[in-house]
Amino acid sequence: MQRDYAARRIEIEGIVQGVGFRPFVYQLANRHNLKGEVLNTSSGVSIHVEGITKEIDSFCRELEINGPPLARITDISDYPETVKNHDSFLIAGSRPDASRSVLISPDVSICDDCLKELFDPHDRRFSYPFINCTNCGPRYSIIDDIPYDRPNTSMKHFRMCGKCQAEYDDPENRRFHAQPNACQDCGPYLTLYDNNRKMIDGINPVEKTAWLLKQGYIVAIKGLGGFHLAADAENDKAVCTLRKRKLREEKPFAIMSFDIERIKKFAVIEPGEEAILSSYRRPIVLLQKKEPNQLSREVSPKNKYFGTMLPYTPLHYLLMQHDFTALVMTSGNRSEEPISIDNEDAFNRFSDIADFYLTHNRDIYLRSDDSIVKRTAGETRFIRRSRGYVPTPVFLNRNMQSVLACGAELKNTVCITRNNKAFLSQHIGDLENLSTLEFFELTIRHMKRILDVDPEIVACDLHPDYLSTKYALSQKNVKIVRVQHHHAHIAGCMAENMIDGPVIGLSFDGTGYGEDGKIWGGEILVVEKSHFTRAAHISYIPMPGSAAAIKEPWRMAVSYLYDVFGEDLQDLDIPVIKTTSEDKTRFIIDMISNKINSPETSSLGRLFDGISAIIGIRNHVCFEGQAAMELEMLSDENTEETYDYEWVSDDKVYKILTAPIIKGIVLDVHNGVHPSVISGKFHRTVIRLFTELCKIIRKDTDIQRVALSGGVFQNSILLSGMVKALEENKFNVYSHKLVPANDGGISLGQAVIAAAVSGNMHNS
Ligand code: ZN
Ligand code: ZN
Ligand code: FE
Repeated sequence: MQRDYAARRIEIEGIVQGVGFRPFVYQLANRHNLKGEVLNTSSGVSIHVEGITKEIDSFCRELEINGPPLARITDISDYPETVKNHDSFLIAGSRPDASRSVLISPDVSICDDCLKELFDPHDRRFSYPFINCTNCGPRYSIIDDIPYDRPNTSMKHFRMCGKCQAEYDDPENRRFHAQPNACQDCGPYLTLYDNNRKMIDGINPVEKTAWLLKQGYIVAIKGLGGFHLAADAENDKAVCTLRKRKLREEKPFAIMSFDIERIKKFAVIEPGEEAILSSYRRPIVLLQKKEPNQLSREVSPKNKYFGTMLPYTPLHYLLMQHDFTALVMTSGNRSEEPISIDNEDAFNRFSDIADFYLTHNRDIYLRSDDSIVKRTAGETRFIRRSRGYVPTPVFLNRNMQSVLACGAELKNTVCITRNNKAFLSQHIGDLENLSTLEFFELTIRHMKRILDVDPEIVACDLHPDYLSTKYALSQKNVKIVRVQHHHAHIAGCMAENMIDGPVIGLSFDGTGYGEDGKIWGGEILVVEKSHFTRAAHISYIPMPGSAAAIKEPWRMAVSYLYDVFGEDLQDLDIPVIKTTSEDKTRFIIDMISNKINSPETSSLGRLFDGISAIIGIRNHVCFEGQAAMELEMLSDENTEETYDYEWVSDDKVYKILTAPIIKGIVLDVHNGVHPSVISGKFHRTVIRLFTELCKIIRKDTDIQRVALSGGVFQNSILLSGMVKALEENKFNVYSHKLVPANDGGISLGQAVIAAAVSGNMHNS
């Protein structure tokens, strides 16, 4: 035997199963003339190679840099081994415990190779809407249990034909062990139904669907993570009908368009946006509208953006190639209920929405809405993290005890941690109705199963009435940790940025239950991992009517005005007073002065709402955050001026007064200053005043780091303005890039706090 002949064992962890990693290793080993074997283990993939040392070295190098597109190596280690004289390289059977703790891939958009076959008339899968391979296709949405093998997916009902089986068994084939592998002879198929559940026979269902959409019909289309409701985005009447039937007045609809070129007809695409649009995760990206454009105004009324995505399944491509500029592809649900995944359920729920149904017989086990992102301050920011991203974990800076965190109430997600990984669920929705609660519970059961953990620590919000809190409190034999909402926001931001405390945390939010029982939301917290102190907040103001004040920003306007002008507010010559009857205003004043159903709030979200109403943008909202959003859209970003601001210090807590700001705004309205300038000045004011407070708190505490979190940071002007101003003042600024700043990211923060709190108790 040659002297430089050696053997080595390589252990790899990360997303390395179900993503074509073993065939890649097999081919790489053969290229380097190495013998040995590769197999799946409980922690990832184990490789034994033997051959010329130099070849082993380059094998190891390429292993790390040339892996298959979906693979993600988180840890790689190698050890010298004794030569066992293998006579070839082979893919060995998995160890029995393999994939107990292995990472499952998210659902992946169709890859270029499959796309080529889809449109190749000579390919045996030409036009087959369920084409996929080791590098693409459904994953998370079709898995019922681990290990990730066909019998544990919804593909178990389809027996592969001889040709598909041969591909599946061949390590040289790009469909080797592709669990959803199928073809027209053996796999799932499409069926088109009319509104009376009558099957429309004998024609190509995709072509017929395209024709129906062109005629202005609304079609419910079963996709990867659930149903979409589709309509031609150029057809005003179709889009309006969809709005009316879906009872969705003004919230923007997502759209899908065939390719980047077509999107450029109606939207502006920045380079960073093109990359994220085209990535295999295929989220909805908020793109600046081009004006004028040929899409219906009803797609995204009073909004600067189109929420746009590229096709991500073969079915989408087959449909979109029929020259639509864009299709509305909105989640198939009724207002805030979970998206529909089941054919029968869709027939029932959309009977008065959809004219036709394009369905198929591959079951979706776990629903997953489209993810939504927006580029702000040079980074991709999540508004909703779901399909294409889940269940990819957020990596933590250390191992911790397993925790189940139940999230907040709106935009709920849950989070389960295992070692140094936090697994956030897909978007579950607003936990306000029974069907969402059921989906919440199902998701928790499902995640425990596929992650193979049953955490003994359960974290939830402080709010006693959240259904997620009630669920947590009902769990038996677990340790419950209740976490303040804004503490969780900041801790989530710290966790994804892998930093421990202390930090100055700016939590700009709509609503969160405070330790004093009041509603917080304009907070500066000094946060250590397991505890926090409140350093500053917006001074409390009554929220007349409680939840009603969120839906009706004019109530907040009256509350802020009453705080400044008292009874004289009735004489103000400003839009909100002119458009509201004296009786209604009187009614609100009475509620405030008699403290009837008027909880106090320090929320920044409410301040945005109130100002939006004061300057005449919006008295009522159709969806959460609408008034604040429209205030942002309108803002003149060139304004350098600010309003006067002021705070008082009380027991070392700074209380920011809203009165000087409100006074300044009312004066501007009287002087005829344009609302866009007022909005710009207000944004500047918030940025400047919070930056100054951070400087004061830095002096008090010596903390240089600032973490930004909370739903109000979806406001791009505020986020980029805050980052810029703080960095100019030599702060280290941390913001969200992996999870949403809104309540969709809360569960991550709850989880790390609960683990830290439990760890502390453990030590003491
Ligand atoms: Zn593929
Ligand atoms: Zn087949
Ligand atoms: Fe929040």
